[in-house]
Amino acid sequence: MQVTNENYYSKEVRSKYLSATSIKEIIGTANSDKSGCPAAAKAKQNGWKSQFDKDDKALLIGSYVDAYYEGALEQFKENNPKIYNSKTGELKADYQHADIIIKYIERDSLFMQFMKGEKQKIYQTELFGLPIIAKLDFEQSDKIIDLKVMATMNPEYIKGLGYVPFIEAWGYDLQLGVYQKIIENITGIKKDCYIAVATKQKPPRKAIVKIPQEKLNDEIMWIASQLSVLEYYLTDNPQPHCGKCDYCLETQNITKETDYSDLSFKN
Ligand SMILES: [Zn+2]
Repeated sequence: MQVTNENYYSKEVRSKYLSATSIKEIIGTANSDKSGCPAAAKAKQNGWKSQFDKDDKALLIGSYVDAYYEGALEQFKENNPKIYNSKTGELKADYQHADIIIKYIERDSLFMQFMKGEKQKIYQTELFGLPIIAKLDFEQSDKIIDLKVMATMNPEYIKGLGYVPFIEAWGYDLQLGVYQKIIENITGIKKDCYIAVATKQKPPRKAIVKIPQEKLNDEIMWIASQLSVLEYYLTDNPQPHCGKCDYCLETQNITKETDYSDLSFKN
């Protein structure tokens, strides 16, 4: 099957190929909390959504900015009528703010040097012998760049680890590490990996951040250590539950009584 822009997010493609996003969901990441949930990843792949999910506004603002750089903003507006006020026909305030973020980026010549190169290139290949697809924001001759529009660039608190940089907390080191490895396998060239980030704060913050090679290596080694889990995920068999994530909490019932002494420990 040829993977294209049209079928990239389809259930059929998702059931046959891993992606950086699904790997994160299945096994977690080396530099964050290493806890993934294959059952949740499979359920999301099949369309499951948490009933406690906040509205997808935050996600849509990021997609709005992405669409702009893909040259697909008009199409995006057409596909997402809810970003307009139904009474006035004007863009809602959040999306007017997205336009401001775009202007902040546009006037910044350093930032704009990173918004160039081949856009949205799709790779359909193998990683450690497993089928994988990837779609890169920007690929240049010596670097790979992913654009992120985020609430803030603040470190995130991870249980057991304390505060970690947002890049590790959100698994962007795994995502870019996967892209780097895929390209290296095909071309023999190891490209530097960058996150270009703009925040939704008022005023927005911007940064170009190179991810240290050892962080990328950590994630590739982590993936290499979890190949049996990833291989099993691509089968039709029922997937193991982590028991802790939103999907497990929302769908699983208790199977035994709780020992009173366990109540002294925080979960
Ligand atoms: Zn789970």
